[in-house]
Amino acid sequence: MIVSNLADDFINAEPVIKAIENAGFEAYFVGGSVRDTILGLPIHDIDIATSAYPEEIKEIFNKTVDTGIQHGTVMVLDHGEGYEITTFRTESTYQDFRRPDHVEFVRSLEEDLKRRDFTINALAMTHDGRIIDLFNGLQDLENHIIRAVGTADERFNEDALRMMRAIRFASQLDFTIEMETKKALKKHAPLLKKIAIERIHIEFIKLLLGKNPQIGLRHFVESDLVKYCPEFNNYLSELTDMSKMQSIKLTSEVAAWSLIIHVLKITETNINHFLISWKSSNELITHVQIVIKALNGIIHDSVSRELMYETGLELLLIANEVAAIFNSNLDAEMLTVAYTALPIKSKKDMAINGRQLIKDVGIQPGEKLGQILSILENRILLEEVPNESTQLLKVAKQLMLKLA
Ligand code: ATP
Ligand code: MG
Repeated sequence: MIVSNLADDFINAEPVIKAIENAGFEAYFVGGSVRDTILGLPIHDIDIATSAYPEEIKEIFNKTVDTGIQHGTVMVLDHGEGYEITTFRTESTYQDFRRPDHVEFVRSLEEDLKRRDFTINALAMTHDGRIIDLFNGLQDLENHIIRAVGTADERFNEDALRMMRAIRFASQLDFTIEMETKKALKKHAPLLKKIAIERIHIEFIKLLLGKNPQIGLRHFVESDLVKYCPEFNNYLSELTDMSKMQSIKLTSEVAAWSLIIHVLKITETNINHFLISWKSSNELITHVQIVIKALNGIIHDSVSRELMYETGLELLLIANEVAAIFNSNLDAEMLTVAYTALPIKSKKDMAINGRQLIKDVGIQPGEKLGQILSILENRILLEEVPNESTQLLKVAKQLMLKLA
């Protein structure tokens, strides 16, 4: 097979591949970008694999950076672009069912493709679009099948993360998992315990953001992989229900976790614990907490000005996206209009600040100052007072006397 109309990313990388070939080595596009091109999907990050060793790559190009030299990856800088070039390798020693700590460089493309996870990910492409298909990946792509390269049992034993990758590709591409590969998932699911939560987290989110998350979730539950993920053991029936939901369409990680928390009925006080167990960042946790509050408001038809103000437009629209899964969403445009009409969007928009209150009203710095500022903020928001400094100073004076 020859792919015509290669995307610009491939065409721009052509001189790099040609330079490696001119030095007497082989170099190919490999991995997700080749798979996605054949499927007609947009590509992101192209990977290049080569028979040249890292030191040899560094001799060919003037500008290189050792981005992952211990794994055989060198970044070549060309025309302001960076290309990651990885030497063909085998991963011979797997310890503890995790990715190997030791890699062996080889000259053979076949050896390199053999250690890849699935046949659809084990294709290589020359700079002019010729596909090298040593494991029937093209046929599996055509038939929408995820199949381990070689023996699934062995491959999951070598690296248990591949099991999560199998089910995330099932969701992302809406593909079927081949029978032997599927059986091996169930057999080896407990090995997932050996994998760092952060890496499982990444795959799980890709699964939820995929084209068919329901199918991914179904495999997740049926294979028992779910049981070796943080906290999920107590929610098997909820996750099964989720795999039967009508339409799940998510566009961000915050939306994905918010949906999970809503479906699992995790209370607001437990969100923190739950997301920490999944090793989530503080930023993610804060955002999810805000979205869950907004989601409850949207679902219960009580979206106040205060709620919109506290949530902010971006998270408000995410909450609305999650509400849409339950047919409880508001019209996104109307929600945007309502938000935009708020007299202020944050404290920074107030026509008065603490310093002015100290100087012009004579309020002492301290708790009372904060109290007066937040009363003013709320009154501006509810349009009880115009956001205008003389008016606000007047109200501040009254408040000072009242709170004295
Ligand atoms: P994505 O579109 O998510 O980037 P991808 O297939 O490019 O998908 P990457 O994680 O970027 O996935 O990995 C690039 C390639 O490296 C894969 O296509 C596969 O060939 C190989 N690979 C990645 N992780 C593994 C693994 N755990 N075991 C074997 N091969 C792997
Ligand atoms: Mg990739």
